Amino acid sequence: MPRYDFRCRSCGATFELRRPMAQANDPAVCPQGHEDTVKLLSTVAVTGAAAAGPQAPSGGGGGGCCGGGCCG
Ligand SMILES: [Zn+2]
Repeated sequence: MPRYDFRCRSCGATFELRRPMAQANDPAVCPQGHEDTVKLLSTVAVTGAAAAGPQAPSGGGGGGCCGGGCCG
């Protein structure tokens, strides 16, 4: 079950909850009982390929030899 980080705007506390993804956007209540909380963007362990995206472009427009017209 994913964890979600929340921050309370009443007392400034941060806390995390474990809840189903279907309830990810449901309002959370601060451990102190405050209801004015915001959900923080956190690194949720997602099982998928989204986290394995390449950071650098793979081929094409690299600016090296090929592509610049010097070898073709
Ligand atoms: Zn609070």
